[in-house]
Amino acid sequence: MAKISINLKEGKANKQADIIVGIDLGTTNSLVAYIKAGNAIAVKDKTGKNTLIPSIIHFTENEQILVGDAAKKQLIQNPENTIYSIKRLMGKSYKDLDKYNDYFGYKIIEEDNDSLVKIRVKNKFYTPIELSAFILKELKESVENELKATVFKAVITVPAYFNDAQRQATRDAGKLAGLDVLRIVNEPTAASLAYGIGLQGEKAQKIAIYDLGGGTFDISILEIHDGIFEVLSTNGDTFLGGDDFDRAIIDFWVEKNNLDKHIFNKNKSLSQTVRLAAEAAKKALSTTDSFNQKVDNLDCAITKEEFEHLIAPLVEKTMTACQNALEDAGLKVSDIDHIVMVGGSTRVPLVKKTVSNFFNQEVYDKLNPDEVVALGAAIQADVLAGNQKDILLLDITPLSLGIETVGGLMDSIIPRNSKIPTKAGRQYTTSVDGQKNLKIAVYQGERDLVENNRKLGEFILRDIPPMPAGLPKIDIQFILNADGILRVRARELRSNLEQEIEVKPSYGIDEETMATMLLDSIQNAESDMKTRVLLEARNEAQNIILSADKFLTQNATILSDEEKERTITLNDTLKESVKGNDKDAINKAMEELNEYTRPLAERAMDFNIANAIRGKKLS
Ligand code: ADP
Ligand code: MG
Repeated sequence: MAKISINLKEGKANKQADIIVGIDLGTTNSLVAYIKAGNAIAVKDKTGKNTLIPSIIHFTENEQILVGDAAKKQLIQNPENTIYSIKRLMGKSYKDLDKYNDYFGYKIIEEDNDSLVKIRVKNKFYTPIELSAFILKELKESVENELKATVFKAVITVPAYFNDAQRQATRDAGKLAGLDVLRIVNEPTAASLAYGIGLQGEKAQKIAIYDLGGGTFDISILEIHDGIFEVLSTNGDTFLGGDDFDRAIIDFWVEKNNLDKHIFNKNKSLSQTVRLAAEAAKKALSTTDSFNQKVDNLDCAITKEEFEHLIAPLVEKTMTACQNALEDAGLKVSDIDHIVMVGGSTRVPLVKKTVSNFFNQEVYDKLNPDEVVALGAAIQADVLAGNQKDILLLDITPLSLGIETVGGLMDSIIPRNSKIPTKAGRQYTTSVDGQKNLKIAVYQGERDLVENNRKLGEFILRDIPPMPAGLPKIDIQFILNADGILRVRARELRSNLEQEIEVKPSYGIDEETMATMLLDSIQNAESDMKTRVLLEARNEAQNIILSADKFLTQNATILSDEEKERTITLNDTLKESVKGNDKDAINKAMEELNEYTRPLAERAMDFNIANAIRGKKLS
């Protein structure tokens, strides 16, 4: 199959516009890089000073959106309207979020189901995809500013452990920002590429990538052979990073100055200033032996020795994770050929020394550790652009392949640009009680609504044993072989019922049509996303309306008249909102109904359990 490039630059005769950029969309910081005269370089932000853009978004009083440093300034003073660490929410459902309970300062909408999380800012609801798109747009603008040309194509990196949903969310964010995401690349792979590892057809080697960022720590063990990167194991800590080093310094100073921790935390402007001083001290101690500054009459001094003493237990924790990663990969320290250092926090000398001692060799640290992932992404982009002639381009599938889900939405299963042969699958369920037949319609294309994509075929999985909606487990597998033949198989896992078809996606379509389809998908990304979000809100609302109705009839005796009336009123408001086109109104009505009924549902549950126990014979 061919490699398709879209020609979006019609009318703008600029050669550079065809460049593909590499983007590191980080939890703490993000940045973009590209290849200039054979070298990967990181792009400076609008101020021309920094390459890193804090991954923070602030919504101002008058609905303006600030991204980066300007948004970071608002973090402490204005936490409800300032979104950080959005990467932690990518592709997550509310169910996944238990451990994040008190972590976020902004409002995550809680719903007791497996729909994707939303974030409420004032009266608007945003998905993590939309919020990440704001960061990507900012990066797109800064590289366009530097190149004086429009940029459409990108490679974006994600952690090696990101699952299918998280990767898809990242792709969608790119599309929404007006980027054609040619490939999602693992961060450790990109970091290795930045050091030239895996670019020549060297003998097989094993690499450890140690990535200590602002709030997360990842260790990945990769095996590289013939230009193919295989993840052998990953380990880490999703709540360990440079922020913890800062916090350790703050606590040290608070104690040193005999301050009450509680009172100190309450004084937002003081704690903000001290927090910034702590980060500055930490960075200074990466190159000097002591830091000494007065902050609002506080004695903010610390020596390198004191700092190392504070963080030693944290660094030790990362080494335990390294040990576990090695064990999971079935390797010994001596099996590792190279260690690549990634993330701003690996600038701390104690971190470097400890890692180097553990692996018993020098580490790769010549490149800026906070830029190395983006630099590698730019190299990967260059390879995809066909500029690195020695590297073999594998066959890829030029358009995404997926199925139609409720509301006519496209659910991509094999994303475009996947290497073939490939295989991917996902589980679905029914939406109606006792549903017997399920239509599986297979499409190709990038648009959010199947009606705008190309239909490849459909079949019906018949005679599913009657079950309540949501109970059947229907596993759909897409198997694309080396000849480009796609086999789609559906299986209901409780009854083992199975059905399949074969189609040839490349049949009857030419490159020009494909290019037009891609172009359309990017030009319509914003309106497509709006439609998708509205349809998803409606689907979710329909489910909630049904369960509220069920709840009312089943628990009529437990609820007071007032509770029944209020529930009915709120449910009616929701029913009304579903008829309209305002997704914020639907989300708000859902949130209100959910919030009101949650304690009622808990009470009903307790009551029903008590009754069930009473009914059981305990002999
Ligand atoms: P992420 O991958 O999580 O987005 P980064 O790789 O950009 O994060 O790392 C950010 C962290 O690196 C922050 O905690 C920052 O304070 C820290 N950092 C940056 N420069 C230095 C330095 N010179 N010394 C110590 N820590 C640093
Ligand atoms: Mg990072």
